[in-house]
Amino acid sequence: MPRIDDFTSAVKIELANRAGYKCSFLGCGAATMGPSAESESSSTNSGMACHISAASAGIGARRYDPDMKSDERKSASNGIWMCYTHGKIIDTDETRFSTDTLRAWKKIAEIVAQLMVERNLTYEQALHAAKSKDMITDSILIEGIGKENILIGDVLHDCGVEYIWGRDITNAIRDFLVEHSRNAFQHGNATKIEFKTKKSKLILIDDGVQFDGKSLLGSNKKSGGTISITQLLKNFGSNLILISEREGNNNILTISKLSNPEDVLEITPCSHQMDYSDFRKGSIEFEISETCKELFIVFPKYISPSDIGLLGNKLIGLEEKGKKLIFVMWRMNPWIIQMLKENYPGCEVIQVE
Ligand SMILES: [Zn+2]
Ligand SMILES: [Zn+2]
Repeated sequence: MPRIDDFTSAVKIELANRAGYKCSFLGCGAATMGPSAESESSSTNSGMACHISAASAGIGARRYDPDMKSDERKSASNGIWMCYTHGKIIDTDETRFSTDTLRAWKKIAEIVAQLMVERNLTYEQALHAAKSKDMITDSILIEGIGKENILIGDVLHDCGVEYIWGRDITNAIRDFLVEHSRNAFQHGNATKIEFKTKKSKLILIDDGVQFDGKSLLGSNKKSGGTISITQLLKNFGSNLILISEREGNNNILTISKLSNPEDVLEITPCSHQMDYSDFRKGSIEFEISETCKELFIVFPKYISPSDIGLLGNKLIGLEEKGKKLIFVMWRMNPWIIQMLKENYPGCEVIQVE
């Protein structure tokens, strides 16, 4: 007997049609319709229409909305087309897949289906063409060691970051986040870690003792933490920004990928945009919060050697106050970086490609 809020066959067909009869699970895209061995004319459909907001209130039904009307619950707007394998996973794991995630996947699947039809793209090509600028918002809690690989890996998959930043960089980030989490539990005595995705940022918050994830960089120990941060920055460091903050009893680690230097200004308030007139001023002063340990200085484009000469060491006072200076700029000539490092021995330089 069908359950009260099951989809009608008309709704199922509508969902399948709009997804091009392909699975909407991000990265799957499996075909769900084909010929059947039963007879010359029969076909087989291995897909299933899944509920975004659950059909009934089950145990841990994170996706059940008691306020949703029955009509709405069984309408096409509340359905998503999946292959059989992923349909089963979606319907049983309500903790991993939020309604926000599924709605975003549905939207992507429809754009992908459209691109495949209109531009004759493969599924992979269409997925890359369909990517949005922002990741899908998600948030999970890790309450101890043992599941960090799966939990962090699943969030990174589900938020679609690999289609925005690239697969290799996402894998390297996962390595680093897993090692960082283990360190927080094992050495920092953290009791819980929150990992979330927000627009252009990955944010990991732990309640352990104060620890800067970047501090393992350059250590001689061949620990997982050192290897992962070293490789991450060595292979993908140019456009990557890592921010470590201490807020109350929490360490907050933010990772983002810059598409241009000015992106930093939106990512952290501990940042300042310089313009050419700043270089010529006798002294440079700007408001900066006491809590900022690092200060990101964004350079205007086309900096020349004499601009660095004009800047001199006017910002050295900040370094003396214990602020780490991080200069962010488009890729510059190496002699300019050299001059900068002579003026500010403790500085870091991020060059955006
Ligand atoms: Zn369902
Ligand atoms: Zn699938």
